[in-house]
Amino acid sequence: MSRDWGLPATDDLAAMAAPVRVLLVDHDSHGATLLAEMLRTAWIEGLVIAHAEHVKDAARELLDHGASCVLLSIEVTGDLQPLAYIQGCAPEVPIIVVAHRADDALALRAVRSGAQDYLVKNEVHPIRLYHAISYAIERNRSAVRLARQALRDPLTGLPDRALFLDRLAVALDRSQRTGAALAVLFLDVDNFKEINDSLGHAAGDLLLGGLAQRLSAMLRPMDTVARFGGDEFTLLFEDLASEQEALLIAERISRTVGLPIRLEDDETSITVSIGIAIARGPEIAAEHVIRDADTAMYRAKALGRSRYELFDESLRRRGMERIELETALRNAIEGSELRVHYQPKVSLNGPWHLVGFEALVRWEHPERGLLAPSEFMALAEETGLVVPIGEFVLEQALQQLERWRAIKPEVTISVNLSARQLQDTGFAPALASAVEASGSDPRALCLEITESALAPSSDVALQVLHRLKAVGITLAIDDYGTGCSSLSSLKRLPVDAIKIHESFLGDLGTGSEQASLVRAIVELAHALGLGTVAEGVETDAQVEQLRRLGCDGAQGFLFGRPAPAPEAEAMLRWS
Ligand code: C2E
Ligand code: MG
Ligand code: MG
Repeated sequence: MSRDWGLPATDDLAAMAAPVRVLLVDHDSHGATLLAEMLRTAWIEGLVIAHAEHVKDAARELLDHGASCVLLSIEVTGDLQPLAYIQGCAPEVPIIVVAHRADDALALRAVRSGAQDYLVKNEVHPIRLYHAISYAIERNRSAVRLARQALRDPLTGLPDRALFLDRLAVALDRSQRTGAALAVLFLDVDNFKEINDSLGHAAGDLLLGGLAQRLSAMLRPMDTVARFGGDEFTLLFEDLASEQEALLIAERISRTVGLPIRLEDDETSITVSIGIAIARGPEIAAEHVIRDADTAMYRAKALGRSRYELFDESLRRRGMERIELETALRNAIEGSELRVHYQPKVSLNGPWHLVGFEALVRWEHPERGLLAPSEFMALAEETGLVVPIGEFVLEQALQQLERWRAIKPEVTISVNLSARQLQDTGFAPALASAVEASGSDPRALCLEITESALAPSSDVALQVLHRLKAVGITLAIDDYGTGCSSLSSLKRLPVDAIKIHESFLGDLGTGSEQASLVRAIVELAHALGLGTVAEGVETDAQVEQLRRLGCDGAQGFLFGRPAPAPEAEAMLRWS
């Protein structure tokens, strides 16, 4: 693998062969001429001299043509401002200060501020000048090389995030002058976690190394590929002729990385999702270009992975809306805009009667009114905000449970759990102590987990469920029938009941397909010793049929809509 791809090693070779370009910065054209003559005497060949009277001209010269070294004459006053200015324009170019007089304190200040050397005009001669410049260039070159090595990812040898950001910022500056667009590609390996888990971390590392090598091999010397983090790579292409060119590059990358990769004894192949952002000029910050490419990459993932997407205005707008919603949701959590509503749950054993409530979260948005979970829970799940929301709902539900059990001791409360909460091994012990502190019977608390949250069948989720069960908490599978509904997982999970999704209800007429499905689910659940609750019950006819099919409980608008705690309490008192 060419570990030194795009590295100073090759730059060094080129630099050695290239002429030395010295930029003289001096107000005094007579002084500059003298220095130029000395330089010509010292260098027999391979020297280019440029002259700038003012630092501003020097900056332009550096941006347009660069320099191997700057000889900066400073004023008698010893003002070092110009030194800082030039360093800001070309941080990697060595600067030698040329002063009118010997002054140890000033020389020290100049060197401390980053000058490579301090020469006194009357004391310089060609040989002294030659040494000063050659040493300054060499010293500077090794310092830059060391600094760059520090900015490399040790696994792949590629530039890391910091170096990529730096190169992108420079490229954005350059694109303003040239007028050409640049593209950033954000690449993420699809399902890398699963590859890592199934083949092992060593194989995962090999795979990333191989991928880095492939990407490097595809680039022109002036392009950059960096390991941005984990299984994420970023690529920078300058001087794009058109947007189409960026798409072609993405296409080529997708095809090349998809070829089989050898991993010691195994062979595997991967796919990647790529987001593309095109930018021109420095009015957009490097971080924002990367953020846009990342947003486009997420879109590629959402559209099914193994593809590329270009960032455009609609994505920008959606991104903004998401950021706004996320900020508002954060504030809502802190500013107590969240509410919990309670929907009655009834038993169908005998005449239907209230047995408990399901706690359902709402957001009382200051402008948009009361929002249902469908408006914000997907975002909450993605951003992790679902964790504090879940804590809030559980806390409220436990308080109500304690209060309501004083009115009716058998009442239960169900709370919905998110996939994220199930991934936290600390969740079960924390909840166990909260339940104990509330003084409630743990069996009166039921946690609902949707089938889809269990789909990845993660060991952690299973562990958390077993711990919750061990504390005595009741568990139910929510929305049964909408996920993969596997029989083996039903047997494996320590649950007490399943909630049949409303999509099974329909008219439930005798002999209908829906009736047969509900019957099958109820029989299966009973055979496994689990209870059943039908969701979304709206008509008396449905209740009749459910009863006939053996369903144990029901929930739906027919018995009551989700309502604030005082209304739910009134229902409880009259039940
Ligand atoms: P779910 O847990 O399956 O909750 C039942 C949903 O069905 C509720 O929607 C409820 O209002 C609605 N529903 C109840 N009866 C009927 C009916 O007769 N007809 C119809 N058409 N709909 C009915 P809601 O409140 O909008 O909640 C939607 C989902 O959001 C919940 O589905 C649950 O998965 C999730 N959710 C709600 N609160 C929380 C929470 O605190 N944490 C988590 N993680 N998820 C929550
Ligand atoms: Mg539920
Ligand atoms: Mg449900």
